[in-house]
Amino acid sequence: MATGINPFEMAQKQIKVATDKLGVKPGVYEILKQPQTVMEVNFPVRMDDGSIRTFTGYRAQHNLAIGPAKGGIRFHPGVTLEEVKALSMWMTFKCGVVGVPYGGGKGGVVVDPRTLSAGELERLSRAYITAIAPIVGPEKDIPAPDVYTNAQIMAWMMDEFSRLKGFNNFGLITGKPLIIGGSAGREKATARGVMFVIEEAANAIGMALPGATVVIQGYGNAGSFCASLLHELGCKIIAVNDSKGSAYNPAGLDPKAVKAFKDENQTVKGFPGSQNLSNFDLLTLECDILIPAALENQITGEVAPHVKAKMLAEAANGPTTPDADEILAAKGITHLPDILANAGGVTVSYFEWVQNLYNYYWPEEEVNTKLRVIMADAFRDVYGMYKNHDGITMRNAAYMVAINRLAKAMEIRGWV
Ligand code: NAD
Repeated sequence: MATGINPFEMAQKQIKVATDKLGVKPGVYEILKQPQTVMEVNFPVRMDDGSIRTFTGYRAQHNLAIGPAKGGIRFHPGVTLEEVKALSMWMTFKCGVVGVPYGGGKGGVVVDPRTLSAGELERLSRAYITAIAPIVGPEKDIPAPDVYTNAQIMAWMMDEFSRLKGFNNFGLITGKPLIIGGSAGREKATARGVMFVIEEAANAIGMALPGATVVIQGYGNAGSFCASLLHELGCKIIAVNDSKGSAYNPAGLDPKAVKAFKDENQTVKGFPGSQNLSNFDLLTLECDILIPAALENQITGEVAPHVKAKMLAEAANGPTTPDADEILAAKGITHLPDILANAGGVTVSYFEWVQNLYNYYWPEEEVNTKLRVIMADAFRDVYGMYKNHDGITMRNAAYMVAINRLAKAMEIRGWV
């Protein structure tokens, strides 16, 4: 997160705006303004040299009104309790906007995993899941990968938890390898979700996708799959970039060839026939659709006035600052906020958990078809909320859709 923006306060502010606009009971804000449960654990890990090191970790569960908690586990030296709490709140709203029956969760361990051996990383992963075992599980809280954690780490955690319980618990965690209960379609799920929401939005505003020009910031998992999926729909990908530079060609790029070039050269910069642009020039190119798919706080108050895209689809988490939101709304840009646009990832994680509970696995086409239904409904809910309220942004509308669901659940359960 950028300095100066406290993620926890930002999340609270979003909830306040949404609860005020919705006119729900004051108790709704009182409950949602902090996580329901926060656990801090300090656990020992034996290092390769025989010494014992104690690590600190957290798990936060924001709200369990409509289902168990769901959210990633981050291994990073900068993990703080405040950040974990804020990220658990964001997960509640991401799940709420697509209507998957979860509340938000998030976990983290203060560690730089790149300094650990494979054995140390495995022992740390097993020790952390053991430490938080009392509050997680398929019916309580289902973790997933996040920054610097991956499918292998999920596999170790699932294995350790299964040993503790005495039977296989595939439903403990999502983002697992396919052979032990992962879901088909997970790899491209976030990008596919972005594409489905763009299709719905284009339809709503009368934008033809064949021939539409697209600019993508970031060419990793989310960015490169967005490029190839939109290219398949007939869009023209005119510029992409990564941390080292960009590839711009107004005549259009072949996303698969760009990906192959990046795999070989570790950057898209220098792709044959393309021109390099600065990050600012890329974000402010004349185009139909701009997709930030890299880092947070990229479209700031300084960048937003110069954005020329007609539609902004946030594949990344938090790419737009609050002041930029207002500027983009005033410019009339169709803005698909992160909690809506990139919710395809958590939706297919939900599918993974459902498949684990049934021990019945779906082919990729079925996953994609179900994902389309959920993403299209979510867009219509958010767009309807936006159209029905004056003076709100699409981000406000997305929070309002999520909070409306939670408020109804909390009211009927007698919490407010
Ligand atoms: P990734 O690591 O695969 O790719 C990130 C890309 O951004 C890389 O190409 C990197 O070079 C580029 N990048 C880094 N710094 C940059 C800079 N200053 N300018 C331009 N490009 C830069 O990560 P990812 O999984 O694709 O995630 C990207 C974003 O999407 C993150 O915000 C992530 O939280 C969000 N997201 C991803 C998923 C998912 O399932 N992968 C789900 C939801 C949200």
